Amino acid sequence: MKPFPSLEIVPPLKGITKAELLGSIQPLMAFRPHYINVTCHRDEYEFRPEPGGGYTRHLLRKRISQTAVCAAVQAAFPEVEVVPHLICGGASADLIESHLQDFKFMGIRNILVLRGDAAAGEKRFTPEPDGYAHASELVAAIRRFEAAGGGERIFTLGVAGYPEKHFESPNPETDIRYLKQKVDAGADQIITQMFYDNAVFYDFVGRCREAGITVPIVPGIKPLTSIRQIDLMPKSFSIDIPVELTAEVSAHPEAAYEIGTEWCKAQSRDLLAHGVEEIHFYTMGRSDNIISVLRDCF
Ligand code: FAD
Repeated sequence: MKPFPSLEIVPPLKGITKAELLGSIQPLMAFRPHYINVTCHRDEYEFRPEPGGGYTRHLLRKRISQTAVCAAVQAAFPEVEVVPHLICGGASADLIESHLQDFKFMGIRNILVLRGDAAAGEKRFTPEPDGYAHASELVAAIRRFEAAGGGERIFTLGVAGYPEKHFESPNPETDIRYLKQKVDAGADQIITQMFYDNAVFYDFVGRCREAGITVPIVPGIKPLTSIRQIDLMPKSFSIDIPVELTAEVSAHPEAAYEIGTEWCKAQSRDLLAHGVEEIHFYTMGRSDNIISVLRDCF
């Protein structure tokens, strides 16, 4: 199969119009992505004081809902498969089932299954009392949902993999053991956390294969866009920025965007030269750098 890109988009903040969202995706369609992933964000709440005393809880949703975004992208670009992310965080088993009914109704065939991070203000992830504690449990629950509906597989399921280890894992071996658990529970493929050194990815794939993980492992990458990210990315995603990239961006902070784009092109070319079939790009709302990478590589 000819190598292809897939793209991740984040539901836009409220106030952005459908035309603006679709207009930002349109130029990417020239490169024939097979999938557009739409991220999922757990609800946040705010407590507001009441005049008579006490507090009431209010839902704070800053973004357009994932379902609305999936439906808009599906309608505008029917040639692309829309892949909603589904997280355990903040969701009961009943709510998850309701999302699955929506996805089935919408003709969605691919889901990326995740645990999600801790709620804002909390140090560790806490599952809902009647929810799921790990992505592997959610994968198994989706397979049970399908079985209860007649047994036919409805969804292709992806899960997340961490070439540099998930930050909560005590060591890389344990992390890979739990990754295998997700695959054994019924996941069909793995998409990786972003990385900036391809050697880290190749090593990860080798360790997964040694551990008996045989499903496709799709590399996820993102161009660096500013010098601030040299500090932020390791903190936010528990990943390393290679010495060479750090030095280059630090020496020319005004050119960080261009340097990051060129680095991403080099990464993509190298991945393709190593026989990778799909590269997953985290777009994070900016697409001119991604367009430049796609033009160069696809
Ligand atoms: P899990 O696979 O459940 O793993 C979490 C931790 O628990 C790991 O350390 C793992 O080793 C450990 N573990 C797993 N199973 C067990 C077990 N049975 N017992 C003990 N320990 C175990 N977050 C969002 O909120 N929304 C998104 O849309 C989103 N999209 C993402 C897309 C990609 C490609 C990636 C890589 C990440 C994404 N994330 C998203 C972030 C993700 O939710 C976090 O990284 C989260 O902290 C872990 O999710 P997971 O699915 O990998 O969790």
